[in-house]
Amino acid sequence: MILGLLGMNHDLAFRITLAGGLGLVAAAGNLLGGYFVVHRDWSRRVLQYFLALGAGYMLAVAFVEVIPESIRLGGEQSLSFVLIGFFLVHLFEHTIAPHFHFGEETHHEEFHDHHAQTTLLLGLAIHTFFDGVAIAAGFLVSTWLGAVIFFAVFLHKLPEGFTVASVVLACGKGKRNAILAAGLLGAATLLGVLLTSALQGQLKYALPLSGGVTVYVAATDLLPEVNREPNWRMALLVFVGVASLLIMQHFFHV
Ligand SMILES: [Zn+2]
Ligand SMILES: [Zn+2]
Repeated sequence: MILGLLGMNHDLAFRITLAGGLGLVAAAGNLLGGYFVVHRDWSRRVLQYFLALGAGYMLAVAFVEVIPESIRLGGEQSLSFVLIGFFLVHLFEHTIAPHFHFGEETHHEEFHDHHAQTTLLLGLAIHTFFDGVAIAAGFLVSTWLGAVIFFAVFLHKLPEGFTVASVVLACGKGKRNAILAAGLLGAATLLGVLLTSALQGQLKYALPLSGGVTVYVAATDLLPEVNREPNWRMALLVFVGVASLLIMQHFFHV
């Protein structure tokens, strides 16, 4: 790894280091989300804001930045990988896991058997692995793409840690295990960053795959949570998320 870093040009080495650092920040977001649940130090409102902003912003990043860049890298066949990424999360979060939704878990009865918790943790860990893949793939393309993808990941990291920790608590597994589960999601994110940085040749697959994952998480995990809130301000915040990417693009993407 170190030798590899020495061999490449300074700019690339810088971007990979940045991906590693921001990967750590994203992983810490998972832990922080878990911490808030365990210490009951959170407001439902704030969490919903993150979900709404995140949903709009993530969809904008995927459609305007990640998918077009994937096509530039790998041609039209990249769209097949977007589709695969999309349904990979569907398979693990909603097909193999019997019960999953973002936000606070209050359906204790769903998690009496050990199988339900394990599959849910696995499903979320696969999703967070691709959060890490997305960050690293973005930085391998450019600092700009890496930065906008990092924000997309970061905006839903707190709710993610929150979700998994509340599931563990709902199962009566205790605070320690709740934090541990949030930490596991963080570790899966870091693994995604490291693996993608090491396997740079696979960028033309990694980027569209992570783009499909981003669309899935934003459109089917986050948006339904936002829409359950009978509050037009929350719905409006989704557009603020979309607009913030377009504004950033206008001012910073040269
Ligand atoms: Zn539930
Ligand atoms: Zn995620």
